Amino acid sequence: MRYGSDGKLKKEGICSLRVRAACAFRRAFDRLMHLGAKRAAAVLVICALSVFAISRMNIALAVSVEGDFVGYVSSRSELDSIISKVRTTTENVFGSECGIEPDVTCHVSFGKAEPGIADAVESRIFSSISEISDLYIVYVDGEPVCAFSSAKDASDAISSVVAGYVTENTVSAEFSGEVSVCEGYIGVDMLENNIKALHDALSVITVDKDVVEQTVKYSTTYVLDDDMLESQSEIITPGQSGKLETVYLVTRENGVLSSYEKLESTLTQAPVPCEVRVGTLPSYSTGSYIWPCDGYISSRFGGRRTSVGSSNHAGIDIAGHYGDKIWASDGGEVIFAEEYSGYGLLVQIRHDNGDVTYYAHCSALLVEEGDIVKQGQVIAEMGSTGVASGVHCHFEYRPGGGKPVDPAPYLPEDVLDTLIVSD
Ligand SMILES: [Zn+2]
Repeated sequence: MRYGSDGKLKKEGICSLRVRAACAFRRAFDRLMHLGAKRAAAVLVICALSVFAISRMNIALAVSVEGDFVGYVSSRSELDSIISKVRTTTENVFGSECGIEPDVTCHVSFGKAEPGIADAVESRIFSSISEISDLYIVYVDGEPVCAFSSAKDASDAISSVVAGYVTENTVSAEFSGEVSVCEGYIGVDMLENNIKALHDALSVITVDKDVVEQTVKYSTTYVLDDDMLESQSEIITPGQSGKLETVYLVTRENGVLSSYEKLESTLTQAPVPCEVRVGTLPSYSTGSYIWPCDGYISSRFGGRRTSVGSSNHAGIDIAGHYGDKIWASDGGEVIFAEEYSGYGLLVQIRHDNGDVTYYAHCSALLVEEGDIVKQGQVIAEMGSTGVASGVHCHFEYRPGGGKPVDPAPYLPEDVLDTLIVSD
């Protein structure tokens, strides 16, 4: 028997076998008639035994696949059922027009169908079709996406997809769709790029417990100090930022954030407030000095001899014209404004840093003790009151209000010309 391209078994049945058997029996009977009685009896016994033996034997279909004998099946309908199952599977995989036909032949023979032979025949037929194979198919939401040679390979591949999105903070990881692995026949092309196909088909939903650390800025408190200028300040205690840890439950799909929920915040390090001392005393000074008037330097600081005697000159004399303006070398508070011995009409200004400047021999005073003056503000007019050899301003600089020092290093250079140093 042979299956044709139409899938039907070609006629070469058990009937023809019976006809041949009847003919053989007829020929044997004719020969028996020519034998003697004893021989005939012996032959009849042998025939009886043969018929008995034959009656004990089974007749079945011997099935071959690709020319190789596979085994006996009990009936043609059983073989048809097996082939139909194979055909259905191939059509499911490749479509009804795939044209894949298993190479199966069979013939009636003495034999017996063993239990499980149907599965063996089916398996052999499937193995004869190179386009499909018995694989472990991964289904996502019921759709086959790829296949693997073993269940372990499939399981490992699925696990690797999940592992790609799991971190030490992950509390759960699962697929967004239903994933299953089933063994079955499917096209071997499902093995190609199976890992990539798996990655493309699967969506992994992870939930991580992420901890975010934030810096907490410290506050600043101010301590007022009445003995300190308002322009001054000093840090009593340096501030130190704190740390705030916030735990978020973060949901991601394939590593991409989809939602998050704030769980709790913990101040792991309290900020240390910064404490700053600030002055409240009004600030009047700039901290630098300017020449107190126009004119020429007629006498520098230090030892000298003049028409009114030798002395250790305590300041710088700037000669000018009677009534020329004299202004504050820097801002501050007027602490003295009247006539004073050889200084004549004298103005003393105490600056914010405690330094004091003197403006002497004035012809007129334009400020009073207690006045607050700005740098450059006119405070007096030039003259020659007190012990003076001519009209000039005697300018002194006393750091901290103490002994006078040479003002020149504290004044702008090359502003005034030296007239005559009369020493
Ligand atoms: Zn002088």
